[in-house]
Amino acid sequence: MRINVLGVGFDNITMDQAVAEGIRLMSTEGPHYVATPNPEIVEICREDPEAREAVNGADLVLADGIGVIYGAKMLKTPLKGRVTGIGFAQGLMARMAESGKSLFLLGARPGVAEKAAENLQRQYPGLKIAGVHDGYFQEDGPVIEAIRSSGADAAFVCLGAPKQEKWMRKNGAATGARLLVGLGGCLDVFSGEVQRAPEAFQRLGLEWLHRLAKNPSRIGRMMKLPLFLVHVAGEKGKKP
Ligand code: UDP
Repeated sequence: MRINVLGVGFDNITMDQAVAEGIRLMSTEGPHYVATPNPEIVEICREDPEAREAVNGADLVLADGIGVIYGAKMLKTPLKGRVTGIGFAQGLMARMAESGKSLFLLGARPGVAEKAAENLQRQYPGLKIAGVHDGYFQEDGPVIEAIRSSGADAAFVCLGAPKQEKWMRKNGAATGARLLVGLGGCLDVFSGEVQRAPEAFQRLGLEWLHRLAKNPSRIGRMMKLPLFLVHVAGEKGKKP
């Protein structure tokens, strides 16, 4: 059963369980897709029913942000812990490498996915990168065809939320990939274009603060976090 945080249902699982489930989904007829919502995305889902449907329609909904963990705790339905999208992706690639599975990288500015592919190939030698495509395309058709003809077992779809969740819901089946994972800005990190926060920040759940310091223009988006906590507090007030 999923844990409901302001209308988004989160799977109450650990990172190891999530990766094992991802591998299981990849070994059964697809399509399956994974969403990794943070508080900002939960807030978007409150206002955009199509986004909410796309996120809740995922086979796995992972609690990417520390804010979601706080929210669930405040609502007295705690989650086991945070399962970051990037950590999930790394766990999945390590397991895929062991069995020679192939991965398509979709998203980010032109050239970024190619760089990410090079780095990932080095980091996970058994992993096959089936193909790449940037995230700034006008028509879905050629992109779907690129994934289909690559024969990829899985695809990382990094178009930002909620675009990527809507895209996976609509086009997942046509791509032929058994598992699609919506991963926001992960290709920017895998390519080396963007540095992930130092480990101390990660441990404390303060990656958002590091991202804000590096890119102050995110402040508008990040103001959704306090709003999220206000909404959680309101929801808590309604509970008996
Ligand atoms: N992006 C894309 N196509 C678009 C809009 C965005 O490929 O039409 C990419 C963008 O280049 C970036 C990622 O999607 O690599 C979104 O990153 P962001 O950090 O905003 O995502 P988050 O992880 O916060 O959801």
